Amino acid sequence: MEIQDIKKRLTIQQVLTHYHLKPNKNHHIRCPFHDDRNPSMKIYPDSNTAFCFSSNCSANGKPIDTIDFIMKMENLTKHEAIMKAKQLLGVEIKNTQELSRVAVLTKAFTYFKKALANSKNARDYLMKRHLSTNLEIGYNSGSFHQGCTPHFINSCVQHGLLKPIRENQYTVFAKGCIVFPLKNNQNQITSLYFRSINDQTKAQHFYLKNRSGLYPHYPPKQTKKLILTESIIDAATLLQNKSITSEYTVLATYGTNGLLLEHLKAIENLPELTEIILWMDGDEAGEKAITKNKETLSRLLHNKI
Ligand SMILES: [Zn+2]
Repeated sequence: MEIQDIKKRLTIQQVLTHYHLKPNKNHHIRCPFHDDRNPSMKIYPDSNTAFCFSSNCSANGKPIDTIDFIMKMENLTKHEAIMKAKQLLGVEIKNTQELSRVAVLTKAFTYFKKALANSKNARDYLMKRHLSTNLEIGYNSGSFHQGCTPHFINSCVQHGLLKPIRENQYTVFAKGCIVFPLKNNQNQITSLYFRSINDQTKAQHFYLKNRSGLYPHYPPKQTKKLILTESIIDAATLLQNKSITSEYTVLATYGTNGLLLEHLKAIENLPELTEIILWMDGDEAGEKAITKNKETLSRLLHNKI
């Protein structure tokens, strides 16, 4: 929604009501922006503005529109005030944020895919893990943001791909990792998983903050048989085997404690499901995860599977 649309739709009365300010019969209120003994702020419903007639006022004799009013009331930036205005209008804030998150991650992932083609180290690592470059995989060489617009860079900061250190300098989240996209139920990228290609480093697995989405994607409605793997790379490995994908839908959990609510909701929505295979590692943690996940899934599906 454009700022002009917001200004057209959000009335000054709505804003005043939100802040429990009620004009008197002469359309005046006590001005919230200076210490006002008499109601010296007049409300103009026709133009959706307010005007303070006091010379002591921080509004400085300028008309105040709905966005300015919110900005001044809560000491917000213009952007924050616009978000708040949308909230007052009942527009789903989450959706607009998600749109920009999807847009940013989709764009970043196209850079990561190109970087994979250009990095021999990353391709060697994939070969070592028996992962084909035909899979949807990228590589974070750490330079994806270079030459990009400030808007894109700010969005990368907002979603955790970059962290500012000083002006125009950033540290890159999960540099030197191969990258896998996580997707929402509309098949849009909503998060990313990173795996270091250096087996010597201490930390090797990174998820972008506010993780959401499933890998490789939401299971299709007609899924009859489902394989749940312990990790994303396990799932990617199975995806390369046609005799598996022709019969099974593959879905990654995020580690031995990584069968999450989002997985369960997706699984619950598969009316034709007849079988689930838990494909965990054959170690103690994997065995425990199988027991636990089996119980969770049996409860979810009323012991039908
Ligand atoms: Zn005032």
